[in-house]
Amino acid sequence: MVRVSNKARLSAGIFGKVVLTALISSIAIVAIVLASYKPVYSVQIDGEFKGYVNSKVQLQRSIEEYLQQGDSEKVGYILLNSRPDYEFELVKKDVETKDEEILLGIKESCDVYYRVYAVNVNDEDVCLVESLADAQSIVDKVNDAQKKYTKKASVKISEQYKKEYDAVKDIQVAANDIIAPIKKENEAIVKKVQTYTSSKTVPQAILDALKSSDADLHFSLPVSSFVITSRYGWRRSGYHTGCDYAAPLGTPIHAIEDGVVTCAEWKGNYGYLVKIQHAGGFETYYAHCSRFACDVGDTVKKGDVIAYVGSTGNSTGPHCHLEIRYDGATIDPQTLASADNASI
Ligand SMILES: [Zn+2]
Repeated sequence: MVRVSNKARLSAGIFGKVVLTALISSIAIVAIVLASYKPVYSVQIDGEFKGYVNSKVQLQRSIEEYLQQGDSEKVGYILLNSRPDYEFELVKKDVETKDEEILLGIKESCDVYYRVYAVNVNDEDVCLVESLADAQSIVDKVNDAQKKYTKKASVKISEQYKKEYDAVKDIQVAANDIIAPIKKENEAIVKKVQTYTSSKTVPQAILDALKSSDADLHFSLPVSSFVITSRYGWRRSGYHTGCDYAAPLGTPIHAIEDGVVTCAEWKGNYGYLVKIQHAGGFETYYAHCSRFACDVGDTVKKGDVIAYVGSTGNSTGPHCHLEIRYDGATIDPQTLASADNASI
């Protein structure tokens, strides 16, 4: 049987009391601290103290949300220049926390890039709009207006990001500003073309001489680089009396044989048309030109530049419509005209 002495019992009792007292007083101290202090985070940006926040997690979340979405749908992206540093602290209960204010300050220090759309004319940005629909509307208006012109501008849209920008206020005014110089340029071309449109005629004697002379003709091609987009003969649209050589607007058109220019003027569906009378009763037509480089009565050599590729008259794109006629009747140009017959 183990006996515990009274003395031992007594000291155990004292020890227990001391521990209990210590515990109670610690709890009391913590309670007092908690009652007069609160846990916060101090925020520093670029080493500068900005204030205290209640929740580091909440502030971080708000910053991330702002960086992702901004506060407007026009925002393309946002750059945060410096991230905040946090430190845990216990401060007196009456110390103010400034969660909202600090978030606002961080937002204001960001670089905000807005998504805008530039309308680009011949590789140059001419105006900015805030929506793709507005940009498309300007492009449609310009393209619609320049349908009838020989020299068209290339109009495109590009998405861009700007910190500051001036958006156009009136779509129609913006479209008109783009159309005006295109119109002016085309009117200048028409004027130039019209100076060639003379009432001159080639003397009948010359034409008769050409028709009756012996023909040793070797027709070359009107443009040096091309894609044939429509051949001679029956097509869905009807009988095609020539062959279409598509080439970029302004490509030089060459006489395909020696001859005399008998027409350099507007001829309805042909648009601006050059006709050349060759020996032996042959005639060639070069249609839809953008402008002329010859005049009625000119004697031309094979290879001479007589006009430039256009899309005038009944045409859906820049090309040279070539016709070869014998005694007024059309012949398939591909049976006679060949690059092998080129003069150079
Ligand atoms: Zn044609």
